Amino acid sequence: MRFIVICVIFFIPLFAANKDFTLYKKEGNIKGNTLLIIGGIHGDEPGGYFAPAFLEKHYKIKKGNVWIVPNINADSIIANKRGLYNDMNRKFSVIEKDDPDYLVVNKIKKIILDKKVDLVLNLHDGHGFFRKNYENAIFNPNAWGQATIIDQEKINGLEKFGNLDEIATKVNNALNNDKLFQDFHSFGVKNTETKFKDEQMQLSLTFFAVTHNKPAFAIETSKNITDLAHKVIYQLKSIEEFMKVMNIEFERDFDVNNYEEVSKKLFDFGKVRINNNMIFDLSDIKKTTRFVPLKNDKNDFKFEHILADTKFIDNRYEIYIGNLKVSDFYPQIFPIAEYKKDIKIEVDGKIINTKFAEEVNIKENFKILKTDFRVNIIGFSKTGVESEDDILVKKSDILDNYSVDNGKTKYRVEFYKDGKFYGMIILNFLKDDI
Ligand SMILES: [Zn+2]
Repeated sequence: MRFIVICVIFFIPLFAANKDFTLYKKEGNIKGNTLLIIGGIHGDEPGGYFAPAFLEKHYKIKKGNVWIVPNINADSIIANKRGLYNDMNRKFSVIEKDDPDYLVVNKIKKIILDKKVDLVLNLHDGHGFFRKNYENAIFNPNAWGQATIIDQEKINGLEKFGNLDEIATKVNNALNNDKLFQDFHSFGVKNTETKFKDEQMQLSLTFFAVTHNKPAFAIETSKNITDLAHKVIYQLKSIEEFMKVMNIEFERDFDVNNYEEVSKKLFDFGKVRINNNMIFDLSDIKKTTRFVPLKNDKNDFKFEHILADTKFIDNRYEIYIGNLKVSDFYPQIFPIAEYKKDIKIEVDGKIINTKFAEEVNIKENFKILKTDFRVNIIGFSKTGVESEDDILVKKSDILDNYSVDNGKTKYRVEFYKDGKFYGMIILNFLKDDI
């Protein structure tokens, strides 16, 4: 008799875990109250994470403290989904140990309960426009947009900021008396009366906070407002009103009512430095960046923007700022070698020293001085030339569809030796002043 042995191999999947988050502490020189701002609990609500990132970069706190977690649900933000591992904002009552959000939820709970924290804001973009009375499918009491959300009228027995309804009303009055982009963008206070009426919200972050005697509010801008700068301005103004209530003093380096200025700063995505040997400006980068000299693995991306992240998929790196994919980087794999010394370039007739992962501004022309590197100016070619150094090059000598940026001003020059990639310099042709 023969036995047929069937081997069953069980694949035990490694449990995915959401990415860890960073807490940014902005502390004033003068002691005062501490405001905790949590952004990005829902990945498809960009007003809720671009605003705290903006605050982190452009505000200075003089009195009191502002603690910021701009992107608590990082994996869902890249995916542009409410919750990649289901709704994180329904996991604050009970969470299983094998839940991918387990570590993140427990870490933020500890921060919420930190005895320094006096008030918590959870930032969202909600559906429609909240109105006390039903008007239509978009403007009604079940909508969440343009509202300050409270779970209950007050926290009994809590003297400091326990009067949730009063605070929310004060904040909203200030917002509505200020400049709105449209009259129908006006804000309202929505009390979900969570304890008695809203079982779902009993699982939420703010309810966890208030049941632990921490005043908490959700700020909701509207998903129906499509302009990101509008949402960010409303979120910032709300936060500023909360700071006023809390006697937190701040300075900012811009005018919050200047839409153009906020937009410009909002879409300044900063730079990424890769493997310490090349640099790309992400504000005007092309959607596709080909033949990026990278290692097989363990490539090190250092971003200036705190919402930046990468995702490796189908042999390319997707580069994100929040939920916005700014470029796909297609690697060309090279062994890399380090070189920290200066590189000499003749720029508009003058010899300058620069280094890899730097940008060089050029008015008319440049010449890479001869070394033992093999030099490759991307988009330039000259018959019979192996290394493109010791040649005077002007912008019109380079094919402009090889530019790094959409504005067709930035080009790559790469340095190789013995089959290894050493580094890249970005050549930036300054636009003529007219
Ligand atoms: Zn939300």
